Amino acid sequence: MSNRVLIPTPLRPFTGKQDVVQVQGATVGELLADLTRQFDGLKKHLYTEDGRLRSFVNVYINDEDIRYLQKEQTPVQPGDTISIIPSVAGGAGTAVREELPSLSANEIKRYSRHLIMPEVGVDGQRKLKAAKVLCIGAGGLGSPVAMYLTAAGVGTVGLVDFDVVDFSNLQRQLLHGTSDVGRSKLQSARDRLEALNPEVRIETHETLLSSENALDLFAPYDVIVDGTDNFPTRYLVNDACVLLGKPNAYGSIFRFEGQASVFGAPDGPCYRCLYPEPPPPGLVPSCAEGGVLGVLPGIIGTIQAMETIKLILGVGEPLVGRFLIFDALRMKFRELKLRKDPDCPVCGTHPTVRELIDYDQFCGVVPAAETGDAAADDSDITSVELNERLQSGEPVFILDVREPQEYQINRIQGSTLIPLGELGQRYGELDPSLEIVTQCKSGMRSAKAADFLRQKGFRRVRNLKGGILDWIDKVDPSQPKY
Ligand SMILES: [Zn+2]
Repeated sequence: MSNRVLIPTPLRPFTGKQDVVQVQGATVGELLADLTRQFDGLKKHLYTEDGRLRSFVNVYINDEDIRYLQKEQTPVQPGDTISIIPSVAGGAGTAVREELPSLSANEIKRYSRHLIMPEVGVDGQRKLKAAKVLCIGAGGLGSPVAMYLTAAGVGTVGLVDFDVVDFSNLQRQLLHGTSDVGRSKLQSARDRLEALNPEVRIETHETLLSSENALDLFAPYDVIVDGTDNFPTRYLVNDACVLLGKPNAYGSIFRFEGQASVFGAPDGPCYRCLYPEPPPPGLVPSCAEGGVLGVLPGIIGTIQAMETIKLILGVGEPLVGRFLIFDALRMKFRELKLRKDPDCPVCGTHPTVRELIDYDQFCGVVPAAETGDAAADDSDITSVELNERLQSGEPVFILDVREPQEYQINRIQGSTLIPLGELGQRYGELDPSLEIVTQCKSGMRSAKAADFLRQKGFRRVRNLKGGILDWIDKVDPSQPKY
């Protein structure tokens, strides 16, 4: 009698990369014995020295775990398929831990709702305790991710961030409270997470993630959770995960829409398989420009936390090769099939990206350090200079290119509103003989508006550097910021 054994990715090197192997035997134990006879190298991965199946190797007959049948004595019928499922702490195959930590009496009490589930149990909870997860960003997505992973007993939760808590974060970033405004996000997060679960080790990395430090930062962790809000960091996280062979629980949010997937898993696609190139800078607005509904990161972040826990436990079907799209207004989830692109520059068969690159340059973004005052040129005007010109009575036409709801929050006295998206139809309303200063929230959209107007033949166009936020800082602190 011949049966099939499915070999998982981490064990394939020991079967000469075969993923399906034909074996003979009447019980699961006999089939596995035949398997290890055929592939000598597999034996020490499946069995301890005294001949017991290793605790991190689960064997399934069809859909059933043999631990809940007759273990290795479980009889096999013709056509049955045997699957070997090693616990893959992080899914990378190299991170299989033989020694799982034990649980204290307190932990057994704390995690009792996990321990009574067959899919988790004591062994699963010990896997969680052994696992190390790094969360990129302690903001909207990072908050639910870090809080749920900490509560669930993931042994080590790392956080990377360099920001301080701003008043405008509190509408969605539940790691931080009102009294934390002005504090480092990581200090605030540490206090919150340690209060939630003192059994968990919280590791904070107060740094700007870069090509120089990403590989070293990621290396000790099993799963990376991408909670970033910008394209250079997103590509950096993706590439570092692929290079290190670590799964990336990805999420992104904008207004009422969210996305989630798991990239960088063995045989799974990566972010670059989906989006080989970033959008041109400024085309896709950030949450700071476009807004985000406060509940949305809670939904997407908890999906990322759930996927992370599934990866650690090795249960269920991860979002590998599946791109989940969430539309909160319609309350609909859609799922797209994602394929690994053999021509992908990072994870394809002939990768051209073999080390981390300059991601600001790749995404066409000028790093913040290079946009200091020294870099200002004739096409820019500062808040102070604009104020002096207005005070001296010079005729300057201020064109605000934000959205009407932003204009309701604050504005420069006497400015005219034409949202950037309408400028293509409405620039005829402007008088080309006037000096025009374009203005938005922080200066990005208005720079695009200024470029557009120059292309249309407007000669005297300047962009207000730093937008209305800078204007409020330097000229008119009476207005609210957002
Ligand atoms: Zn790829």
